[in-house]
Amino acid sequence: MEGPATMTSAATTTLDATVPRLHEAFVSAEPVLTALDEIAGDGDFGVNLRDGFTEVTQRLSGPDSPSPWDAVRAVFLDEVGGTSGPLFGLLFQALGVRAAQSDTYADALRLGLADGLAAIERVGEAQVGDRTMVDALAPAVETAATDRDDHAALVNSAVEGALSTSSLRARRGRASYLAERAVGHPDPGAIGMALLLCVLAEPITAPETTARERTRLLEAAARAAPARDDT
Ligand code: ADP
Ligand code: MG
Repeated sequence: MEGPATMTSAATTTLDATVPRLHEAFVSAEPVLTALDEIAGDGDFGVNLRDGFTEVTQRLSGPDSPSPWDAVRAVFLDEVGGTSGPLFGLLFQALGVRAAQSDTYADALRLGLADGLAAIERVGEAQVGDRTMVDALAPAVETAATDRDDHAALVNSAVEGALSTSSLRARRGRASYLAERAVGHPDPGAIGMALLLCVLAEPITAPETTARERTRLLEAAARAAPARDDT
């Protein structure tokens, strides 16, 4: 269906521009995310996320390629496996919808994260404290609602929430069967979610802030789960 040329909002343009950096972030974090999922899951989490963004990048290089964020949404909703793939897809869908409607990227992020959290909670039925990606996303949404313009605080809440999962026992997902093994290690989904939020906040945050939070997040994750190729 060819309608009249649609206007792309500035927020959508900014969201689209995060795609290469998301791809790069999940390629470099794959070993530590995999190592964490091997402790109390089936070890596919890091690979699923990395391969999802690789598939997105491939779709964008072809003829008649979709818009970048449409590709992200479609790949994660329809192609990426594991419990987490479609849950990330719901978040990506919400961000895309809000970006199309919002005047600013900051509004799109705040509203899209809130809608995405609601969708993830509805479908996955996890609550804060269940040791899932919700433990990183929910604090970020809460901070965004109270401190609208403080995106450094949003990122900080996500990172703190993700690292706090080290002391939680899983009640949802595969890790719930291996609850004891997981204690002392952060939840891979929560670490992945916090990394996602670090990258999504980059366009509206001082670069040193997101870089510092990202390093803090991944160094803590690596200490808890030395990746295969670490020496
Ligand atoms: P699987 O166990 O199906 O292999 P993945 O490896 O794709 O799942 O993803 C694991 C992550 O998914 C967990 O670390 C957790 O953060 C998240 N997760 C699992 N179940 C749920 C749920 N019901 N709601 C939200 N997140 C969940
Ligand atoms: Mg898994």
